[in-house]
Amino acid sequence: MIRDNCPEGATTKQRLVGTYDKQRSGPTLVCLGGVHGNEPAGVLATERVLSVLKERRIPIKGRVLGVIGNIEALRRGVRHVEVDFNRIWMLERVERLKAEQNGANGSVEEREQLGLMSTLHEIFREAPEEVFVLDMHTMSADGDPFALFGDTLPNRKFASGLCAPLILGLEEHIDGVVLDYVNSLGHVTVGVEGGQHDDPRSIDQIEAIIWLALFSAGMIREEDAPEVARARQKLSIAARNAPPIVEIRHRHPIQSGDGFQMKPGYRNFQAVQQGEILANDNDGPVRSPEDGFILLPFYQGLGNDGFFIGREVKGAWLKVSALLRRLRFDAVVHWLPGIRRHPTQTDTLVVNRTKARWLTMEVFHLLGFRKRRIDGNTLLVSRRKPQLSNGRRF
Ligand SMILES: [Zn+2]
Repeated sequence: MIRDNCPEGATTKQRLVGTYDKQRSGPTLVCLGGVHGNEPAGVLATERVLSVLKERRIPIKGRVLGVIGNIEALRRGVRHVEVDFNRIWMLERVERLKAEQNGANGSVEEREQLGLMSTLHEIFREAPEEVFVLDMHTMSADGDPFALFGDTLPNRKFASGLCAPLILGLEEHIDGVVLDYVNSLGHVTVGVEGGQHDDPRSIDQIEAIIWLALFSAGMIREEDAPEVARARQKLSIAARNAPPIVEIRHRHPIQSGDGFQMKPGYRNFQAVQQGEILANDNDGPVRSPEDGFILLPFYQGLGNDGFFIGREVKGAWLKVSALLRRLRFDAVVHWLPGIRRHPTQTDTLVVNRTKARWLTMEVFHLLGFRKRRIDGNTLLVSRRKPQLSNGRRF
């Protein structure tokens, strides 16, 4: 048994909620819960699914595991103890932490990070085939479930099976989320928001999402598990008031002490208009920068995200982008005027915004790139990591 560097000497065994398999071959599904400690619904929903699978001995291809993200924060029932556990997974930072192995001296979250990394890498090493990671969260505001992912084709395929509205591009606005790190290792990843933190329906909704994730990953058959059809029905009803696909366009960051107060009553996917006053802070009213849908309005507790504004994406856009990516149009985009490859960073393009004025960020999104940085006239975009499993590409 690998001992990790968690507080109180937690081990991989303590980080595991449970596991279920019938045969070693097949996909691996990791249900990751409690990345934020005040969001236990994912862990509870995983326990429920595992106990049904075991009780009824439901046939399964591959292996499903439940894993806890931040054990100490979950034990205390707080979002995080020292730093947000879902903002510290930048590749360079992770590499530095691994090199230092600074378990004893680091923050609570750094010790948790070393522990979770050790557990996840052990699971990934043992996985004979494709790995899917489902990161399960809940929200401070009321609202129905939705799924978030970095826009690669395998992530899209997996997320589309979850019968929840799909949110693209959140990771472009937030650095260091755990799923971005796991995605960069070549695994399929989707995050889910299951409902309000303390609403018991959130556990039911996440349970439904896990059943659909097992089915979407090709691990269980509907004839063996009527829960799949029931989950589809439950989530389709929950999703009927939201647009099917939304791209995040804006994040309003907040800091402690800036007096941010969301106006009461906003729900996820509520339509908002440009200029609408959504909140107040020490500088006065905070307005929506554009027309769109509000997501994750911040109502209580700890956190740095005031709200997000998204815009509906039409299904045809996804089809065009899938086609362009299969044609590998991204591989020749640097031939266009004003675009060149980054001299040292692979999968990164340097865009001269004066010369390539006609190329908007939407076009780069279409081709599977994400915005990295804007320096005056220069835009840096990076291609999302290609998936490694089965030779499939983004
Ligand atoms: Zn969360």
